[in-house]
Amino acid sequence: MSKNIKEAAQIALFQGVDTLFGICEVPVKATADTVLVQVALATICGSDLHTVSGRRSAEVPCVLGHEVVGTVAASTRLRSAEGKLLRAGDRIIWSLTTSCSACHYCLNKNLPQKCETMFKYGHAQCADENTLSGGFASHIQLKAGTTIYHIPDAIKDEEAVPINCALATVINGLETIGTYPGETAIIHGAGMLGIYAVCFLQEQGYDIVAIVDKNANRLQIAEQFGATHTFNTSSTSAEDISEKLKELTRGRGVDLAVEVSGAPSALPDLIEWLGIGGRCLTLGYVYPLENIPFNVHQLVTKCINLRGIHNYHPSVLKSALSFIERSRKQYPFAGLIGEIYPLSDIDDAFAHAFRQDAIRIAVDPLKD
Ligand SMILES: [Zn+2]
Ligand SMILES: [Zn+2]
Repeated sequence: MSKNIKEAAQIALFQGVDTLFGICEVPVKATADTVLVQVALATICGSDLHTVSGRRSAEVPCVLGHEVVGTVAASTRLRSAEGKLLRAGDRIIWSLTTSCSACHYCLNKNLPQKCETMFKYGHAQCADENTLSGGFASHIQLKAGTTIYHIPDAIKDEEAVPINCALATVINGLETIGTYPGETAIIHGAGMLGIYAVCFLQEQGYDIVAIVDKNANRLQIAEQFGATHTFNTSSTSAEDISEKLKELTRGRGVDLAVEVSGAPSALPDLIEWLGIGGRCLTLGYVYPLENIPFNVHQLVTKCINLRGIHNYHPSVLKSALSFIERSRKQYPFAGLIGEIYPLSDIDDAFAHAFRQDAIRIAVDPLKD
């Protein structure tokens, strides 16, 4: 271990619903077959909120946080996805999940994110070699099988931090379902994923990129990122939105629908709003919920292609970095990060994130 590596890391332990986080010190052991990373910034993702609120179960104690950027802290044998050496001080992002490249899902299904031996950062019980496995900590230790990319110098940490969950998920979903210039789209949910979907579809040459949410502030932000039409579901009925979308699409309905809200009403409404030959991508139902009834007759008679995607193919991180690099002057990505809290104030950071007045709240373990 090099001299400038601390021998202890600080971690924020999630210990269960309605329980404060515990900040504690654990020993750091750099090894040649892992990558020890000094965390620079980690953001609170919607799925962290699902876990902390108890909507989604977690084995406790665990270190949450999977939207993370950091710098390599110690030399390692592992290399980046592009074969480059990982040197101390290099700024990197990495895949949310590890994969083995040899199992049924890796080899035959092209779904390495569902690998049989997959490990998911920020979701594991904190023990032994999984102690430094989440972003709400001073250090995280990346395992073999993690896809790692260097962050181009031009991209700031605030622009890079949501890439390895929110942006990569959106790009993987949209690339899978297909995007075509001149089409029309409706997005359900103006959180981080929805806002990324808006600007990505703008870049793909979409004519109409409409978005719905119940939060007026989020809809305003979506406009800054290129939304052509916004609908507030707290003041506009699904029927009125349907009428308006028909007016915008010569009575046909939209070509592409993207569910990123996780709201039970989203899928039924989107199926209604799609036109014949439409495509519906669903990404937001990442927590267990009751079955959602929707109009299956319309699904069939409108020949709708319905597709779910979970996690993302790690190679998408490259496209995600390129997207931010080429469009960062056009869109205020860094402004999507609201207040930045020190690790010791993680309870306040979560309380703030639950208020939903910022798209992302961040934790900086180097901040006092
Ligand atoms: Zn996430
Ligand atoms: Zn595998």
